[in-house]
Amino acid sequence: MEQFVQVLALIISLALAILVGKDASKRGMNPWGWGIGVFILWIIFLPLYFIVRSRKHNKLIKCPKCGISFESPVIITTKAIYDKYGENLMQCPKCNYSWIRK
Ligand SMILES: [Zn+2]
Repeated sequence: MEQFVQVLALIISLALAILVGKDASKRGMNPWGWGIGVFILWIIFLPLYFIVRSRKHNKLIKCPKCGISFESPVIITTKAIYDKYGENLMQCPKCNYSWIRK
């Protein structure tokens, strides 16, 4: 029975680590660092992850044309454009205006 609980805890830690890793990589955060951190010591790293994540979440970008604020505005159309502008290429999801972030 005790072994079963340990295995279950391991599976839950692993599942949490994978979820956090996937979420971190979507947000441009270190997926391995957070994933492994959560796996080893989720009681510390999971709350920490949500704190750091919500800080990033609040970083809104404002469209210079229509003035709405939004998050994760980066669009990558082609590799050539990405190589040239990287993640500084912005596009407004509302009016489709695009610009280069200075
Ligand atoms: Zn706009």
